[in-house]
Amino acid sequence: MGHGSNGADHKKRLRPVLQLHSSGKEMIRIPKSIYLKMVEHAKKESPLECCGILGGKDHAVEKAFELQNVDQSSVRYAMAPQEQLKVFEEMEKDAMEMVAVYHSHTHTIPFPSDTDVKLAFYPEVSSIIISLKEKDPVVKAFRIGKEAIYLEEIEVIS
Ligand SMILES: [Zn+2]
Repeated sequence: MGHGSNGADHKKRLRPVLQLHSSGKEMIRIPKSIYLKMVEHAKKESPLECCGILGGKDHAVEKAFELQNVDQSSVRYAMAPQEQLKVFEEMEKDAMEMVAVYHSHTHTIPFPSDTDVKLAFYPEVSSIIISLKEKDPVVKAFRIGKEAIYLEEIEVIS
């Protein structure tokens, strides 16, 4: 991604990216063990996309829930509603909220696809993408709103 966007102000975009910036206000904290578990999950499911939910409080992750990608696809994912419900119940029991939804891109960059944007129902929840395109996995967090996609800082804590 370049820095300047002068002269590249295309009005007809397919995705609602009006701005992509790191505000510094939004940050998600992930314990190292959970971060590594998420990357392992992505590798295990590859070439299919994996998906899961991160529960916690105040943008701090406390627990990862691995879910089935019912689409069994390498380009998209869908979480099983039954599994999702179980995760919500479990999070509620532990007074956790949904901090993030994560999924993998097994052969593309870690940026929300048009489908990801269309299916982003929770603008207050982070969307984490684990890209396996390069040799070393790249993990990025976003918040996908109606008007824009915001890059979020990930702080891996030990
Ligand atoms: Zn995606």
